[in-house]
Amino acid sequence: MSTFSVIGTPIGNLEDITLRALKVLAASDLILCEDTRMTKRLLDRHAISVPTKSYHMHSTISRVEEIIALLKEGKNISLVSDAGTPGISDPGSELVRRIREDMKEEISSGILKIESIPGPSALTSALSIAGIPCADFTFLGFLPHKKGRETLFKEIAASERTMVFYESPHRIIKTLESLVEHLQGQTSAKKVTVCRELTKIFEEVVAGSPAEVKTYFDTHTDKVRGEFVVIVS
Ligand code: SAM
Repeated sequence: MSTFSVIGTPIGNLEDITLRALKVLAASDLILCEDTRMTKRLLDRHAISVPTKSYHMHSTISRVEEIIALLKEGKNISLVSDAGTPGISDPGSELVRRIREDMKEEISSGILKIESIPGPSALTSALSIAGIPCADFTFLGFLPHKKGRETLFKEIAASERTMVFYESPHRIIKTLESLVEHLQGQTSAKKVTVCRELTKIFEEVVAGSPAEVKTYFDTHTDKVRGEFVVIVS
Protein backbone atom coordinates (compact mmCIF):
# COMPACT_ATOMS: atom_id res chain seq x y z
CA MET A 1 0.00 0.00 0.00
CA SER A 2 1.37 3.44 -0.90
CA THR A 3 0.07 6.97 -0.70
CA PHE A 4 0.67 9.97 -2.92
CA SER A 5 -0.21 13.08 -0.88
CA VAL A 6 -0.75 16.46 -2.50
CA ILE A 7 -0.08 18.97 0.26
CA GLY A 8 -0.92 22.67 0.59
CA THR A 9 1.89 24.70 2.20
CA PRO A 10 2.14 28.32 3.44
CA ILE A 11 1.89 31.30 1.07
CA GLY A 12 4.06 33.47 3.31
CA ASN A 13 3.63 32.78 7.01
CA LEU A 14 5.43 29.52 7.78
CA GLU A 15 2.96 28.76 10.58
CA ASP A 16 0.13 28.36 8.07
CA ILE A 17 0.40 24.61 7.76
CA THR A 18 -2.05 22.06 9.05
CA LEU A 19 -1.27 19.48 11.73
CA ARG A 20 -2.17 16.81 9.19
CA ALA A 21 0.24 18.24 6.59
CA LEU A 22 3.10 18.16 9.13
CA LYS A 23 2.26 14.61 10.14
CA VAL A 24 2.09 13.37 6.54
CA LEU A 25 5.26 15.22 5.49
CA ALA A 26 7.20 13.75 8.42
CA ALA A 27 5.99 10.23 7.60
CA SER A 28 6.81 10.45 3.86
CA ASP A 29 9.59 8.40 2.28
CA LEU A 30 10.16 11.23 -0.19
CA ILE A 31 8.94 14.81 -0.62
CA LEU A 32 8.73 16.17 -4.17
CA CYS A 33 9.34 19.93 -4.17
CA GLU A 34 9.14 22.64 -6.81
CA ASP A 35 12.36 24.03 -5.32
CA THR A 36 14.07 21.85 -2.71
CA ARG A 37 15.86 24.82 -1.05
CA MET A 38 12.59 26.68 -0.59
CA THR A 39 10.81 23.67 0.95
CA LYS A 40 13.80 22.97 3.18
CA ARG A 41 13.10 26.25 5.02
CA LEU A 42 9.63 24.98 5.86
CA LEU A 43 10.84 21.50 6.80
CA ASP A 44 13.64 22.89 9.00
CA ARG A 45 11.18 25.20 10.74
CA HIS A 46 9.11 22.17 11.70
CA ALA A 47 12.10 19.87 12.37
CA ILE A 48 11.16 17.48 9.56
CA SER A 49 14.03 15.56 8.07
CA VAL A 50 12.89 13.57 5.03
CA PRO A 51 14.66 13.18 1.65
CA THR A 52 13.54 15.66 -1.01
CA LYS A 53 13.68 15.68 -4.79
CA SER A 54 12.69 18.33 -7.28
CA TYR A 55 9.55 18.15 -9.36
CA HIS A 56 8.81 21.28 -11.39
CA MET A 57 7.44 22.59 -14.68
CA HIS A 58 10.48 21.36 -16.60
CA SER A 59 10.75 17.91 -15.02
CA THR A 60 11.37 15.21 -17.59
CA ILE A 61 9.31 12.13 -18.37
CA SER A 62 12.03 10.03 -16.75
CA ARG A 63 11.44 11.87 -13.43
CA VAL A 64 7.73 11.02 -13.71
CA GLU A 65 8.58 7.37 -14.44
CA GLU A 66 10.97 7.30 -11.47
CA ILE A 67 8.17 8.58 -9.19
CA ILE A 68 5.71 5.98 -10.51
CA ALA A 69 8.29 3.21 -9.96
CA LEU A 70 8.74 4.31 -6.33
CA LEU A 71 4.96 4.27 -5.77
CA LYS A 72 4.88 0.75 -7.24
CA GLU A 73 7.53 -0.27 -4.68
CA GLY A 74 5.15 0.89 -1.94
CA LYS A 75 6.78 4.21 -1.05
CA ASN A 76 4.76 7.07 0.43
CA ILE A 77 5.42 10.24 -1.57
CA SER A 78 4.30 13.80 -0.89
CA LEU A 79 4.11 16.64 -3.39
CA VAL A 80 4.42 20.31 -2.44
CA SER A 81 4.98 23.49 -4.43
CA ASP A 82 6.92 26.60 -3.37
CA ALA A 83 3.78 28.09 -1.87
CA GLY A 84 0.10 27.29 -1.59
CA THR A 85 -1.71 24.44 -3.29
CA PRO A 86 0.07 22.31 -5.89
CA GLY A 87 -1.68 22.38 -9.26
CA ILE A 88 -3.14 25.88 -8.77
CA SER A 89 -0.97 27.86 -11.21
CA ASP A 90 1.78 25.51 -10.02
CA PRO A 91 3.20 22.15 -11.09
CA GLY A 92 1.33 19.05 -9.99
CA SER A 93 -1.69 18.35 -12.16
CA GLU A 94 0.28 16.66 -14.96
CA LEU A 95 2.04 14.38 -12.49
CA VAL A 96 -1.26 13.46 -10.79
CA ARG A 97 -2.79 12.80 -14.23
CA ARG A 98 0.08 10.45 -15.16
CA ILE A 99 -0.13 8.58 -11.84
CA ARG A 100 -3.91 8.20 -12.21
CA GLU A 101 -3.46 6.91 -15.74
CA ASP A 102 -0.48 4.59 -15.20
CA MET A 103 -1.62 3.20 -11.84
CA LYS A 104 -5.35 2.82 -12.52
CA GLU A 105 -5.39 -0.79 -11.32
CA GLU A 106 -3.44 -0.08 -8.13
CA ILE A 107 -5.86 2.78 -7.37
CA SER A 108 -8.98 0.70 -7.99
CA SER A 109 -7.66 -2.20 -5.92
CA GLY A 110 -6.74 0.13 -3.03
CA ILE A 111 -2.97 -0.44 -3.28
CA LEU A 112 -2.39 3.24 -4.10
CA LYS A 113 -4.25 6.15 -2.62
CA ILE A 114 -3.95 9.69 -4.01
CA GLU A 115 -4.96 12.01 -1.20
CA SER A 116 -5.45 15.73 -0.76
CA ILE A 117 -3.99 17.44 2.29
CA PRO A 118 -5.62 20.85 1.80
CA GLY A 119 -3.98 24.06 2.91
CA PRO A 120 -3.59 27.70 1.91
CA SER A 121 -3.99 29.14 -1.53
CA ALA A 122 -3.56 32.80 -2.49
CA LEU A 123 -6.81 32.46 -4.45
CA THR A 124 -9.03 31.51 -1.49
CA SER A 125 -7.14 33.73 0.97
CA ALA A 126 -7.73 36.79 -1.23
CA LEU A 127 -11.41 36.04 -1.76
CA SER A 128 -11.91 35.39 1.95
CA ILE A 129 -10.85 38.92 2.95
CA ALA A 130 -11.98 40.92 -0.12
CA GLY A 131 -15.57 41.32 1.07
CA ILE A 132 -16.96 40.44 -2.33
CA PRO A 133 -19.81 37.98 -2.91
CA CYS A 134 -18.03 35.00 -4.44
CA ALA A 135 -20.40 32.07 -4.45
CA ASP A 136 -19.49 32.07 -8.09
CA PHE A 137 -16.28 33.39 -9.71
CA THR A 138 -13.87 32.68 -12.56
CA PHE A 139 -10.19 32.08 -11.84
CA LEU A 140 -7.87 33.03 -14.71
CA GLY A 141 -4.51 32.02 -13.22
CA PHE A 142 -1.78 34.28 -14.68
CA LEU A 143 -2.89 36.43 -17.61
CA PRO A 144 -1.06 35.77 -20.89
CA HIS A 145 1.67 38.34 -21.62
CA LYS A 146 0.93 38.68 -25.32
CA LYS A 147 -1.39 36.40 -27.31
CA GLY A 148 -4.95 36.50 -26.04
CA ARG A 149 -4.27 39.27 -23.49
CA GLU A 150 -6.47 41.92 -25.13
CA THR A 151 -9.29 39.43 -25.65
CA LEU A 152 -9.13 38.46 -22.01
CA PHE A 153 -9.41 42.08 -20.84
CA LYS A 154 -12.47 42.45 -23.08
CA GLU A 155 -13.93 39.32 -21.49
CA ILE A 156 -13.21 40.65 -17.99
CA ALA A 157 -14.94 43.93 -18.93
CA ALA A 158 -17.98 42.15 -20.35
CA SER A 159 -18.34 39.50 -17.65
CA GLU A 160 -21.08 39.62 -15.01
CA ARG A 161 -18.96 37.26 -12.93
CA THR A 162 -16.24 38.09 -10.42
CA MET A 163 -12.88 37.44 -12.10
CA VAL A 164 -9.74 36.60 -10.13
CA PHE A 165 -6.17 36.35 -11.34
CA TYR A 166 -2.56 36.23 -10.14
CA GLU A 167 -0.11 39.00 -10.98
CA SER A 168 3.60 39.69 -10.49
CA PRO A 169 5.15 42.97 -9.27
CA HIS A 170 6.72 43.50 -12.71
CA ARG A 171 3.36 43.54 -14.46
CA ILE A 172 0.89 44.89 -11.92
CA ILE A 173 1.07 48.51 -13.14
CA LYS A 174 0.68 47.46 -16.77
CA THR A 175 -2.29 45.31 -15.81
CA LEU A 176 -3.94 48.12 -13.84
CA GLU A 177 -3.44 50.40 -16.89
CA SER A 178 -5.24 47.82 -19.05
CA LEU A 179 -8.06 47.54 -16.51
CA VAL A 180 -8.49 51.34 -16.50
CA GLU A 181 -8.55 51.34 -20.30
CA HIS A 182 -11.07 48.50 -20.65
CA LEU A 183 -13.33 49.13 -17.65
CA GLN A 184 -13.70 52.89 -17.47
CA GLY A 185 -16.87 54.38 -18.84
CA GLN A 186 -18.83 51.18 -18.27
CA THR A 187 -22.41 51.69 -17.16
CA SER A 188 -22.15 48.97 -14.51
CA ALA A 189 -19.13 50.23 -12.55
CA LYS A 190 -16.60 47.54 -11.82
CA LYS A 191 -14.56 47.37 -8.65
CA VAL A 192 -10.92 46.27 -8.56
CA THR A 193 -9.50 44.71 -5.40
CA VAL A 194 -5.79 44.05 -5.14
CA CYS A 195 -4.65 41.73 -2.34
CA ARG A 196 -0.92 41.99 -1.75
CA GLU A 197 1.52 40.00 0.38
CA LEU A 198 -1.17 37.82 1.95
CA THR A 199 -0.26 36.34 5.35
CA LYS A 200 2.99 38.37 5.39
CA ILE A 201 3.95 41.44 7.46
CA PHE A 202 2.89 43.90 4.76
CA GLU A 203 -0.40 42.22 3.85
CA GLU A 204 -2.64 44.81 2.24
CA VAL A 205 -5.98 45.07 0.43
CA VAL A 206 -6.54 48.03 -1.91
CA ALA A 207 -9.98 48.42 -3.45
CA GLY A 208 -11.77 50.99 -5.57
CA SER A 209 -12.46 51.93 -9.15
CA PRO A 210 -9.76 50.81 -11.62
CA ALA A 211 -8.42 54.41 -11.76
CA GLU A 212 -8.37 54.76 -7.95
CA VAL A 213 -6.41 51.56 -7.48
CA LYS A 214 -3.96 52.50 -10.24
CA THR A 215 -3.41 55.96 -8.70
CA TYR A 216 -2.72 54.31 -5.34
CA PHE A 217 0.08 52.15 -6.77
CA ASP A 218 1.40 55.02 -8.94
CA THR A 219 1.79 57.15 -5.83
CA HIS A 220 2.98 54.39 -3.48
CA THR A 221 5.80 52.94 -5.57
CA ASP A 222 7.17 51.13 -2.51
CA LYS A 223 4.03 48.95 -2.64
CA VAL A 224 4.73 47.75 -6.16
CA ARG A 225 6.53 44.70 -4.84
CA GLY A 226 5.69 41.30 -3.48
CA GLU A 227 2.88 39.04 -4.66
CA PHE A 228 -0.55 40.05 -5.90
CA VAL A 229 -4.01 38.66 -6.41
CA VAL A 230 -6.35 40.87 -8.46
CA ILE A 231 -10.14 40.62 -8.22
CA VAL A 232 -12.49 42.38 -10.63
CA SER A 233 -16.08 42.38 -9.41
N1 SAM B 1 -0.17 27.47 -5.92
C1 SAM B 1 -0.21 28.81 -5.38
C2 SAM B 1 -1.54 29.00 -4.64
O1 SAM B 1 -2.21 28.01 -4.37
O2 SAM B 1 -1.85 30.14 -4.31
C3 SAM B 1 -0.01 29.84 -6.46
C4 SAM B 1 1.33 29.75 -7.12
S1 SAM B 1 1.61 30.93 -8.38
C5 SAM B 1 3.10 30.32 -9.10
C6 SAM B 1 2.26 32.30 -7.51
C7 SAM B 1 1.33 33.50 -7.55
O3 SAM B 1 0.32 33.35 -6.56
C8 SAM B 1 2.02 34.82 -7.21
O4 SAM B 1 2.61 35.39 -8.37
C9 SAM B 1 0.87 35.67 -6.72
O5 SAM B 1 0.11 36.17 -7.80
C10 SAM B 1 0.03 34.60 -5.98
N2 SAM B 1 0.47 34.56 -4.57
C11 SAM B 1 1.19 33.60 -3.97
N3 SAM B 1 1.40 33.92 -2.68
C12 SAM B 1 0.80 35.11 -2.47
C13 SAM B 1 0.67 35.97 -1.35
N4 SAM B 1 1.24 35.69 -0.19
N5 SAM B 1 -0.03 37.12 -1.50
C14 SAM B 1 -0.60 37.44 -2.69
N6 SAM B 1 -0.50 36.66 -3.77
C15 SAM B 1 0.18 35.52 -3.67
